[in-house]
Amino acid sequence: MRVVLLGPPGAGKGTQALKIAKEFDIPHISTGDIFRQNLRDNTELGKLAKEYMDKGLLVPDEVTNRIVEDRLQKEDCQKGFLLDGYPRNIPQAEELDKFLEERGHSLTAVINIQVEREALIDRITGRRVCPVCGATYHIKTSPPKVDNVCDKCGSELIQRSDDKLESVVKRLEVYEKETKPLIDYYTRKDILVNIDGNKSIDEVFEDIKKALLGDRRNDIH
Ligand code: ADP
Ligand code: AMP
Repeated sequence: MRVVLLGPPGAGKGTQALKIAKEFDIPHISTGDIFRQNLRDNTELGKLAKEYMDKGLLVPDEVTNRIVEDRLQKEDCQKGFLLDGYPRNIPQAEELDKFLEERGHSLTAVINIQVEREALIDRITGRRVCPVCGATYHIKTSPPKVDNVCDKCGSELIQRSDDKLESVVKRLEVYEKETKPLIDYYTRKDILVNIDGNKSIDEVFEDIKKALLGDRRNDIH
């Protein structure tokens, strides 16, 4: 199963990705997570990505495409994968198609999580993440048991530097201009599934599961 999770920042892609990856036993590949890990490890890639991330801009395609292609060639992706936050514009989507086609593969489904703009701003500005294990919380809708402490590993939670209101507005603008056209792109390929992301985390997951199991019955790849 080769799946892309599409949706604006804050739609719940990362939250759902963890659950989908576990349920279907496929690796979860988040370009944002890869950039943040590099930033923590103080690599050249991390330093370069930070310049774009803090401004709410996309990291250049040639850098991002190379990282994803390297990752997709790892052994664990042979059984399938779940891409979260990639592709994020038409050139990335075309590159991904080309990469898969060259290997005789194609995407099984693109799950498009839809949430209204007002809710997105609340979700992103209230998001808190664990810098150690990557768990995601929300100060109102899914707070940790102990204030600001990760339930899973006990580390202190942080707010992502690009989750402050100034960057969020820019990121939503970039989404509208660059990422939203992917909805048409994948609709034309007849692999887009729209999911109502305004429901609870568990309900959204159930809807995604149903969509993927439906698709899997026809999955000839
Ligand atoms: P994305 O990866 O799409 O940017 P996240 O999965 O990080 O989004 O979710 C953004 C924020 O919204 C997080 O704080 C998360 O806890 C919260 N969240 C995710 N899904 C839901 C939901 N269905 N209802 C309410 N809050 C949610
Ligand atoms: P995310 O964790 O998906 O919200 O991504 C955080 C930031 O990482 C984005 O605002 C971009 O700066 C960068 N990023 C993540 N994925 C991509 C991508 N596919 N192409 C370019 N930049 C990306």
